[in-house]
Amino acid sequence: MSDSVFRNYIAGEWVEGSSTIANISPSDLSDVIGHYAQADAAQTQSAIAAAAKGQLEWQKSGLEQRYAVLMAIGDELIARKDELGRILAREEGKTLAEGAGEVYRSGQFFHYYAAEVLRQMGETADSVRPGVEIETRREPVGVVGIITPWNFPTATGAWKIAPALAFGNAIVWKPANQVPASAWALTEIISRQNLPAGTFNLVMGPGAEVGDVLINSRDINALTFTGSLETGRKVAAATAVNLVKCQLEMGSKNALVVLDDADLDNAVECAVNGAFGGTGQKCTASSRLIVTEGIHDRFVAAVIERMKKLVVGNPLKEGVHIGAVADARQMESNLKYLELAKSEGGKLVYGGEVITEDTEGYYMQPALFTETTNDMAINREEAFAPIACVIKVKDYAEALATLNDTNFGLTGGICTESLKYATDFKRNAKTGCVMVNLPTAGTDYHVPFGGRKDSSFGPREQGTYAKEFYTVVKTTYIRA
Ligand code: NAD
Repeated sequence: MSDSVFRNYIAGEWVEGSSTIANISPSDLSDVIGHYAQADAAQTQSAIAAAAKGQLEWQKSGLEQRYAVLMAIGDELIARKDELGRILAREEGKTLAEGAGEVYRSGQFFHYYAAEVLRQMGETADSVRPGVEIETRREPVGVVGIITPWNFPTATGAWKIAPALAFGNAIVWKPANQVPASAWALTEIISRQNLPAGTFNLVMGPGAEVGDVLINSRDINALTFTGSLETGRKVAAATAVNLVKCQLEMGSKNALVVLDDADLDNAVECAVNGAFGGTGQKCTASSRLIVTEGIHDRFVAAVIERMKKLVVGNPLKEGVHIGAVADARQMESNLKYLELAKSEGGKLVYGGEVITEDTEGYYMQPALFTETTNDMAINREEAFAPIACVIKVKDYAEALATLNDTNFGLTGGICTESLKYATDFKRNAKTGCVMVNLPTAGTDYHVPFGGRKDSSFGPREQGTYAKEFYTVVKTTYIRA
């Protein structure tokens, strides 16, 4: 498999790129997963043109055809979750369980939107003019550009592709270049479905070239992006020039609040799971742990004990909880943030060591800092690393103020037995998702997902809310 070249998919054909890249596992640098085609600007343009043609056909497809296509993709992802989850784990560094879980979840997105196809309801109204009736209905937005990050290579694609197809759109998908194998595998499944040529196109390649063409195109009708704040700003600026509808899901600096009255065991599980799951490389990770004085010392001691039980290592091995860091650049950045936290006065109370495994890769022991304050850069910038910082606060009011004192706002959590504080938190946390006695990471597939402030821009993703982005409303006036 390592000698094969996996090609782009444009206008219903597998096509060579202008070059190739080797996809190397971050958990074993000798493991070449494959060589992947790289599109250039001209090929990306051809994919956009193909999508425009495909969309005209796909929008005419019957609801049952759309339903059947989405169900079949979902069925296959679920049936092949272990095989595809292993590819995902090899290329991204997450554990086999996390990889298989992500592929399974991706299948659920397709199933959910298969059902959504059959819920195409419009509205009618009487006009203010006698004898005139009005109807509003949703139509496909058209050609959708999809740009995804490396940390959830299959799921991020799935939660965008499934609603895009369900609502009758065509797609040009540019996945992150670190994880082409998962994108290619999903594309291969889609390529076998009953879709008009051009409805779905895969263009693998660098953001600066392929992504740049997509975000600057006047022939794309809507652009959905998940990735960093820095790139998101570029996407927003470029699409605004052409008045292209745009949706951004970006980074965050999520916090978990732990109050004196919290169930300690549950709070520890929420913290460790939320901060270090997926090697801390989740937009929903709780990198800030805001803890009130009365429970602080017990909480820190218990988190350290729990962290000692975490097995860090090759994600393909059974029993490993924390896999590899995604690539050399991310590892370098993690180590830079460790040093930054120390230089700002944070006290490293556990972990942070670089680990060696039988296979050469990027391994790091999750790290816990105490004695940090919310104004330190380590608590303001998204590190995307298995690093959590404890911020000690006096009471609930200070905890809430600290949680909200950030330019991000994706998820926020609280551990408390108090209905009073939980209720107040639910209403006043300035985040798109709120978790009570649950980790900040881990969301469902049938309800809206998104954040506030610098974490999100544009309509919400997922659940029925996705139709806001993937459709346009038409208002028709009729005089009989
Ligand atoms: P990134 O911004 O570097 O890249 C994201 C995508 O944008 C990639 O496909 C990349 O190739 C492309 N890209 C890069 N430069 C581009 C340009 N100039 N024009 C167009 N496209 C370009 O982000 P990443 O490092 O892949 O992912 C990590 C980030 O994603 C983190 O900030 C994380 O919080 C965020 N994320 C957010 C969510 C969410 O739903 N909010 C989910 C997962 C990840």
